[in-house]
Amino acid sequence: MNIITRALRSRLFVTGEIVAAEQVAPRMRRLRIAGQAVAGLAWTPGQHVRVLVDAPLTLRTYSVWQHDPTWECIDLVGYDHGADAPGATWVRTARPGQEVAFTKPEGKLTVRQGAPYHLFAGEETAAVAFGAMLRAVPADAAVFGAVEAEEGGDHLDLPRDLVRVCRSGAPAAGSETLVKAVAALDLPDAPGVAYLAGEARTIQAVRAHLVGERGWPRRDVITKPFWTPGRKGLD
Ligand SMILES: Cc1cc2nc3c(=O)[nH]c(=O)nc-3n(C[C@H](O)[C@H](O)[C@H](O)COP(=O)(O)OP(=O)(O)OC[C@H]3O[C@@H](n4cnc5c(N)ncnc54)[C@H](O)[C@@H]3O)c2cc1C
Repeated sequence: MNIITRALRSRLFVTGEIVAAEQVAPRMRRLRIAGQAVAGLAWTPGQHVRVLVDAPLTLRTYSVWQHDPTWECIDLVGYDHGADAPGATWVRTARPGQEVAFTKPEGKLTVRQGAPYHLFAGEETAAVAFGAMLRAVPADAAVFGAVEAEEGGDHLDLPRDLVRVCRSGAPAAGSETLVKAVAALDLPDAPGVAYLAGEARTIQAVRAHLVGERGWPRRDVITKPFWTPGRKGLD
């Protein structure tokens, strides 16, 4: 890398090194990235970074599972959706010792403090942001939600109890499994705040249920599409 490229890269990206990689579920890998620059990052739970997964400028987005300034590290958890795509390949093959460049944390999928209660719905990719957000929800605040995964073992351990459902071979895109799971939740009569993330069509269907069938105002349904079939690096 020449001097100009290196200077440009250091302006745009934070650089760290992978210090640990752990298979936390059959299709999910936790990657710990450490370095001096990582310690100083400002991060609100739910925010994401964009990782330079391939040269020259292939970026893919991953939520920060956890940021630990003391240990100068962040943890990402990547879902290996099985395709030969840059993000999934990076998740699958990243190893300790490897340098990683990524953008500073950003994003508006964060906990709305003071909400009457919090409702979470999404699949494997969304579970990462949800884990961080659930740690930021006050302990006495009510939490509801449903998380979908391919199989039971693919669920991440989350800090609060959400209903777990499995697709078991059904498509994650436009998932009826997740919509049904949300429809079956026994929620208070009045709306709270909903956080819907993951596959775009599924999110739309869950939002349509909350707004159309449960009468939630749109402003109380926060959505963030993470991916959808046929689109690359959705963000
Ligand atoms: C704000 C935000 C936060 C995100 N956080 C996370 C996270 O913490 N962990 C995580 O794993 N992902 C996360 N994602 C999703 C991730 O960025 C996408 O899945 C991304 O497309 C993966 O890149 P890729 O190179 O593997 O596939 P791409 O090249 O982007 O896409 C190629 C094709 O692969 C398929 N595809 C992509 N993603 C999936 C998927 N998840 N399941 C099934 N098929 C898929 C689609 O058909 C797509 O057209 C996040 C996305 C956003 C926008």
